[in-house]
Amino acid sequence: MKQVDLIIVGQGLAGCALAWQAWFRGMRPLIVESDSQPGRHCSRVAAGLLNPVRGRGAPKLVWRSEEMAHTARAHYDNVALHIGRRVFHPTPILRHAAPEVQASGHSLKRGGAPAGKTLSERFPGSSPDKPLLVRCGGWLDTATYIDSTRMFFRERGCYFNETYSECDTKFGASVHDGVRWRDYRAKALIVAAGLGARELPSFSSLPFRAAAGRIAEIEPPSPILSDEIHVFDGHWLIKRSGGPHLCGATYEFVDPESVPNEFPDELRPLTNRILGPAWACSHIRIGVRPILRQSRPLAGRHPRIPSLAWLNGLGSRGVSTAPRVAAALLEHLLLGAELDPEFDAMRCRHVHQFLQ
Ligand SMILES: Cc1cc2nc3c(=O)[nH]c(=O)nc-3n(C[C@H](O)[C@H](O)[C@H](O)COP(=O)(O)OP(=O)(O)OC[C@H]3O[C@@H](n4cnc5c(N)ncnc54)[C@H](O)[C@@H]3O)c2cc1C
Repeated sequence: MKQVDLIIVGQGLAGCALAWQAWFRGMRPLIVESDSQPGRHCSRVAAGLLNPVRGRGAPKLVWRSEEMAHTARAHYDNVALHIGRRVFHPTPILRHAAPEVQASGHSLKRGGAPAGKTLSERFPGSSPDKPLLVRCGGWLDTATYIDSTRMFFRERGCYFNETYSECDTKFGASVHDGVRWRDYRAKALIVAAGLGARELPSFSSLPFRAAAGRIAEIEPPSPILSDEIHVFDGHWLIKRSGGPHLCGATYEFVDPESVPNEFPDELRPLTNRILGPAWACSHIRIGVRPILRQSRPLAGRHPRIPSLAWLNGLGSRGVSTAPRVAAALLEHLLLGAELDPEFDAMRCRHVHQFLQ
């Protein structure tokens, strides 16, 4: 029997964050990832933006934006040291506003309530009559992050490329008994399988509200010269170095199979505003976000199986939230630290009741 500290099912943004956070703490994880069913994961589709400001009209700060962004940037910088390649690219965000929002000085709202500050004051360098400048954003090169993570752990014998099934697993009766999968023993098994969790009996009843999204790869008449991320009316346009210009993303609460493989009209005001009318769309990417409770992740032990844990519900903000929640879950499982109530799955009755 071989001993590892953790078995992690899934290697999207959640699984990668767990594997690295475990590695940074001197632990040995084993990743089990099935990449044979491309429709099942969305981390590769995502543009990887980290944007602390949301909202189509009056801008709002996203949930715990500073804390999440701080941990995320430290996480991706640390990964870069291990793999020898930068994966996170700090990039200013230019938020173009509709005239009525601009006239109000981009009044800042926190969770819907005015916070008594304008965004221009919160983000120095902005002015009410110009697009709002957000300097603390950027983008994660998700493909490089995922591929390099895989290579790193595979080279160290910590990676299985196959579909995990609960039939091969023997869960101990208490937290201390740990778990056995094939000829591996671990203290816990963490399911970080995004929407793929629905196919595992222990998680099949999770009440996902999956939102499909489209991102367009764009060929502009000439490249955007600056390295800014442009945001307008809830959509963004970005020139990623070494890749195509991307524009997105839509939210479509429909059967993902029915999402048309064509340029969404709702992105046109943004592309026309930034690129003029003479651009072309070369490809459409479609992914599905795993949402359980807005875009706020949940993590914790399974209520019936103590050595089984999970991290899911990253929604549309996995880049910023995955590292912080992964770190908290590991400290909870391995050191007994209390989970932050805001992402403790046990305290979220709306979701927890489905696992009983
Ligand atoms: C169009 C679009 C744009 C987005 N843009 C952004 C953005 O700009 N910024 C941002 O922060 N977020 C963005 N997101 C959201 C982000 O992609 C998600 O929050 C994140 O990818 C979810 O990661 P995950 O690891 O939970 O799930 P997934 O990415 O789905 O990963 C789950 C993994 O588990 C594996 N798996 C499943 N079942 C099994 C099994 N039985 N055995 C083995 N492996 C299994 C799958 O193969 C997959 O690799 C976007 C999403 C979409 C759809």
